[in-house]
Amino acid sequence: MAEELDPFKISQKQLDTAAELMKLDKAAHQILREPQRTVVVNVPVKMRDGRSRLFTGFRVLYNDARGPGKGGIRFHPQETLDTVKALSAWMTWKCSLANIPFGGAKGGVICDTKKMTPAEIESLSRGYIRAISKFIGPKIDVPAPDVYTTPQIMGWMRDEYETIVGHESPGVITGKPVELGGSEGRFDSTAMGGMYVLREAAKLQKMKLKGAKVAIQGFGNAGKFAFEIATKLAGAKVVAISDSQGGVYDPKGLDYEKLNEVKEKTGSVQNYKGASRVSNDDLLELDCDVLIPAAIENQITKENADRIKAGMVLELANGPVTPEADKILFERKILDMPDFLVNSGGVIVSYFEWVQDMEGFYWTEDDVYSKLDKIITRSFNDIIAMQQTYRKGGRMITPREAAYVIAVDRVAKAMKARGWY
Ligand code: GLU
Repeated sequence: MAEELDPFKISQKQLDTAAELMKLDKAAHQILREPQRTVVVNVPVKMRDGRSRLFTGFRVLYNDARGPGKGGIRFHPQETLDTVKALSAWMTWKCSLANIPFGGAKGGVICDTKKMTPAEIESLSRGYIRAISKFIGPKIDVPAPDVYTTPQIMGWMRDEYETIVGHESPGVITGKPVELGGSEGRFDSTAMGGMYVLREAAKLQKMKLKGAKVAIQGFGNAGKFAFEIATKLAGAKVVAISDSQGGVYDPKGLDYEKLNEVKEKTGSVQNYKGASRVSNDDLLELDCDVLIPAAIENQITKENADRIKAGMVLELANGPVTPEADKILFERKILDMPDFLVNSGGVIVSYFEWVQDMEGFYWTEDDVYSKLDKIITRSFNDIIAMQQTYRKGGRMITPREAAYVIAVDRVAKAMKARGWY
């Protein structure tokens, strides 16, 4: 992988920029450039043909100065330790920016769930939890779903953990099914949070959301609900959407129910009739008002950033824009709202889930969403205020840089108060 696309190097580079901007203490900077703990495990699973296969997995605790580690588990065939390290750093900044009492962590297993049976996935999920059980817990490090992991998988993982520790422990993992201590509203919370950010960003840009043209890359948990919420609640028009196989484009707008049906019946949104097919790369360069990368990292790079036509980029995926592309978008005056604000709805509602599990007292969906709205809107305003502070000092900074300054400052202060430097 090219050095400039290594996610961990990118996360370090972003931190370095923030450190320079805020004149971060050297010792704090040094601690924050590396994860606190990296665990690599190899998990044997008996496959359907009777043979045993070994799967490699990771759990990285990046920093727990502000609270227990927090972050999802990805099941992905191309998973790497460096990706998990980067994602754990981004979780640290995400929880800090939202000002929720968690540090950052992330996990991953190299596997292709599309080629596995449910029994094999369950067995791998349980084996992974057994392997990392000493390093997780409601007050140690709290996993959650991410790419290709589901509430059902979280359910198996909670069950396995409780079998090991011998008592109830619902707060060990979030994103669980509602029947098993999950929170109302958790499933679409990432997209919902993103839509609150879109609402605020549109206000700032004086852009009308009703009828605005939106292109979404990705039809996973984030992209799918972003489509539904953008059209049903905000009145926007989704003109393009894709999944891992490719996408479709119709300037008149796509129909959510029809698209869902096509995805369910044929396995890909590409088979939607009456729209033209586009590749995942072409989708990014379509003529639209809002571009939502909601799939994976490194999608907008120095190669295509000068061809982006959207007025605004809303990073619902983790790490979709590289630092070089960041600069190009900023120079071209395209508003790019950073991932660790835009997709923080997921972990914010995970926090609510954890609180509910610890108290054994559960909230309504309305309660969850109104609290989420408050937290994410406050984070948005904090970012705009930080940009203004720098502007007054004669320096223009991006929303991502402003978000970094806020988040890193909070973690550095917590480490200082603990006497770590
Ligand atoms: N995987 C989600 C993220 O990247 C959620 C993490 C969590 O809920 O802990 O933010």
